[in-house]
Amino acid sequence: MKNRWNDPDAGSSPIEQLVYMSRLMGQDEGLVLWGGGNSSFKVDGQDLLGRPIQLMLIKGSGSDMKSVQARDFPAVRLEEIRASFTRADMTDDDMVAYLARCMVDPAAPRPSIETLLHGYLEAPAVAHSHADAILALTNTRAGVATVRRVLGESVAIVAYRRPGFLLAKEVALAVQNNPAVRGVVLMNHGLLTWGDTAREAYSRHIDLVSEAEEFTLAESATRGLTPAAASRLDESVRRSIAAQIAPALRGALSARGRKILRYDDSADILCFLDEPQTRDLVQIGPATPDHLLNTKRRPLYVKPVKLTGDSIVAAIREGLDQYIKDYVEYYERHRDQEPLLDPAPRVVLIPGLGMWTAGPDMRACVIPADIYHHTIGVIGGAEALDHYASLSEKDAFDAEYWPLELYKLTLAPPERQLARQVALVTGAAQGLGAAIAKRLALEGAHVVVTDLNETGAAAVASEIASTNGPGRAVATRLDVTDEESVRAAYEFARLTYGGLDILVSNAGVAHVSPIESLSLDLWEKSLAVNATGHFLVARETIHAFKEQGLGGAMVFVATKNVTAPGKDFGAYSAAKAAEAQLARVLAIEGGEYGIRANMVNPDAIFEGSGLWSDEVRRDRAAAHGIAEQELEDFYRQRNLLRARVTAEDVAEAVLWLASDRSSKTTGAMIPVDAGVREAFPR
Ligand code: ZN
Repeated sequence: MKNRWNDPDAGSSPIEQLVYMSRLMGQDEGLVLWGGGNSSFKVDGQDLLGRPIQLMLIKGSGSDMKSVQARDFPAVRLEEIRASFTRADMTDDDMVAYLARCMVDPAAPRPSIETLLHGYLEAPAVAHSHADAILALTNTRAGVATVRRVLGESVAIVAYRRPGFLLAKEVALAVQNNPAVRGVVLMNHGLLTWGDTAREAYSRHIDLVSEAEEFTLAESATRGLTPAAASRLDESVRRSIAAQIAPALRGALSARGRKILRYDDSADILCFLDEPQTRDLVQIGPATPDHLLNTKRRPLYVKPVKLTGDSIVAAIREGLDQYIKDYVEYYERHRDQEPLLDPAPRVVLIPGLGMWTAGPDMRACVIPADIYHHTIGVIGGAEALDHYASLSEKDAFDAEYWPLELYKLTLAPPERQLARQVALVTGAAQGLGAAIAKRLALEGAHVVVTDLNETGAAAVASEIASTNGPGRAVATRLDVTDEESVRAAYEFARLTYGGLDILVSNAGVAHVSPIESLSLDLWEKSLAVNATGHFLVARETIHAFKEQGLGGAMVFVATKNVTAPGKDFGAYSAAKAAEAQLARVLAIEGGEYGIRANMVNPDAIFEGSGLWSDEVRRDRAAAHGIAEQELEDFYRQRNLLRARVTAEDVAEAVLWLASDRSSKTTGAMIPVDAGVREAFPR
């Protein structure tokens, strides 16, 4: 591991150097992942009355090292921290209450639950990580002997214990007894180093990790995992099978609340899964307790008889039933006060196909995926040195159901109405479709933004991601008139999020022509987009909904013309009427599966609309016998509310029909036209 410290970048004050060190560590995934690890620095400060006191700046609970800032380090009074050392014991609740009273600024973030660990050490700078290379040593059957074999007597070793007062005290005593050691290895947990400066603490950290890495690398040349020469599926075949089974997997994992799924067929995952010992290795446990809330103790490992859709789905169902049964038994064996967490796995491994991770949103899928890539590395390293081992089942349970960790979950804001749901919107590069995609995303949906115009769709998806978070929207090209294009876009959606809960079938075109002069070509084009296009996406949607078994909502963007057709709009109105009938039949056919189909009928949405081309505007103005610039005003004057209808107004109606708030409504038509009397549905 490279020492990336560079003095000119580090700043001069202790807090600058502390932030710099923490970010360097956080950026190295081999050291810490997603909120893991922490760091501190002891400085001279003043109390409220200006009297000199010693303070410790310690990383706050919940902040991520790679992006940490000075304000994420609350200051605690060191004298008070150290006064607790002489106690015989301290419960977690006492410790948290005690730490809160050591804080200089009560409004600062809550200090790390490993604060005492840092405070009891004499050295000013302290760095703590869950380095893969160190875990590969501690997570072996020989454990302590393996650490000694690799790092000799230059480190102190402390047996596994859940972080808290006693661990902090044991670490401090180990260092007091061996003042010359370069660091402390925490069994099944990580590494602690220190120094007079942040640079010194960091450099010692990197040195120890590098020594462990090099030793393990040399051993792996002759020992460890040697993947079987499995005949690997072609990437496109593999992905097509993965897409085929994804909705069934998603449905099975969603028994206690829908999940977003993330598929990963990176080379290291496939390679690891080819290894015949994998089945047993993945049952052993996590690399460090810090991973448990994100990965659970074990992944679901499924080995189907054949890599065909039916065989895989059957194996998933059987494997999942057993997994949940085992998980509930594990909970019952060790339970205390905390209620049962969702027993579904967060990581699913299928040899030949790859890994799925599941969670309430994409971020919650990325975290266990990142962790599992590193777990594989740790397992590989441990197997090269000895045999992989992990925490005892009891220790794993105590870490997974640790009230201090579970407390973090309670801080999450309440879920929005479309949380955990996936929506696909067609014709979403601009206008109505874009407004709908953004509205659904704002309510928590993950959105597949599709359009013929791929660049426009990508821009909408990236806008959604920047507002709502990375991974919250993706874009793909979709020509609703082309069966193959529809199939490919749905395969993309299945691979990206695992399935689908909402379809907003919006793509449309308008041509203006009296029927007597309407060309067959324009007639057929209108039918292809405005009728067949809805059929093709609806058919793919029904497949995904049924495979998931979670119901689903389809919303068709129709038009006021369905109930009140307009002059010169023959091709458009006839095709849209077909769309409306299609939606009704879908409501009839989908009912018994909890699948709803509804329509919105907008009228005269001008802003950003692809329908109102210059040509259409000109022709409509002519049809009504008015000037083109009077057109919007004309439509406004024509409606009962005398109001201008916007894309956002339509998006609001779509949102209601897509959400569970309309769970008892299907086959319905909602006009969003500011009131057009002749278009009243009847
Ligand atoms: Zn730790």
